Amino acid sequence: MKPVAIFLVSGGLDSLLAAAVMREHVSAGYMLHFQNPFEAVDSLEYMEEAAEKLSFPLVIEPLGNDYLEIVKNPRHGYGKNLNPCLDCRILQFKKAVEFLKRKNADFIVTGEVLGQRPMSQNLRAMKLIEEESGAGGLIFRPLSARFLPPPDIIKSGAISLDSFPKIKGRSRKMQIELAKEYGINKYEPPAGGCLLTMKEYSRKLSELFNKSSLPTPIELTLLKIGRHFRISPENKLIVGRNQNENELLERIAPPDYTVIRPLENKGPTSIIDSLPCKKLLFTAAGISARYTDSQEDEKIRFIYYNGKVSGEISSTAFSITQTEEYRI
Ligand code: SF4
Repeated sequence: MKPVAIFLVSGGLDSLLAAAVMREHVSAGYMLHFQNPFEAVDSLEYMEEAAEKLSFPLVIEPLGNDYLEIVKNPRHGYGKNLNPCLDCRILQFKKAVEFLKRKNADFIVTGEVLGQRPMSQNLRAMKLIEEESGAGGLIFRPLSARFLPPPDIIKSGAISLDSFPKIKGRSRKMQIELAKEYGINKYEPPAGGCLLTMKEYSRKLSELFNKSSLPTPIELTLLKIGRHFRISPENKLIVGRNQNENELLERIAPPDYTVIRPLENKGPTSIIDSLPCKKLLFTAAGISARYTDSQEDEKIRFIYYNGKVSGEISSTAFSITQTEEYRI
């Protein structure tokens, strides 16, 4: 009887390819995706398509506050930006081992490629992650398996390594060719992935971590949208950058947030994360006016409203220097 595997998938090329390469070697498997608030693109359709093609059920498990805690205070530190890759992998592997036990599966498969990511995909890091997560001997990385120490499933003789590819390093050429062979046509674009590896996003998240104990889901969602300004120690202004963002901000702003929109001019929709005092409303209007089609010294009329009150306020646009003083 062939073994049963848990496939850790992200929607990216490597993890979907790893599942495809393994199809003939297992009797059954589960494609397991740990969903986190820092996914740059929605990869659900890629995972769904691959799961259907390979006849593996797809299981989505959201990562909760325990994940946010490690992003805020990682034991092993950050990569280039706010990406705590080692702690992130340790947590995911821990949860994957729990899942494996619940499903009585035999081993865990990942799409990791030796030498592809500097922080988490080198021999030392892989060993550390396995030891600290309790996944020692359980992880099989089919794309690079022929360069790596064999996990228990290989030692047992249940799977032979002969037919597996020999992939390592940062080039994706071999994976793209193999994906064509296996009919994996849709996967996350290379620019997608994890927001924590991105400089701009990391700066905004770091500022938010300094302001709140643990950010709420809406605060994390809003980090992906608009230009961000700290207009008082407690208040933040978010200014839409285009029509899509303007509509989105207005639609998702909770009732205790204040929406500000120009009445007559073309310009952005902005939101403040509370009902601010008049002084802060003027600041918000001055910054927002900077992004309208106003002429110099023209007074722009704005409407503002939230779940409780509404009104009008006017302001000329702040200068670039003034505006940048508030920028996060
Ligand atoms: S890139 Fe992001 S999701 Fe991937 S291991 Fe690093 S922190 Fe985790």
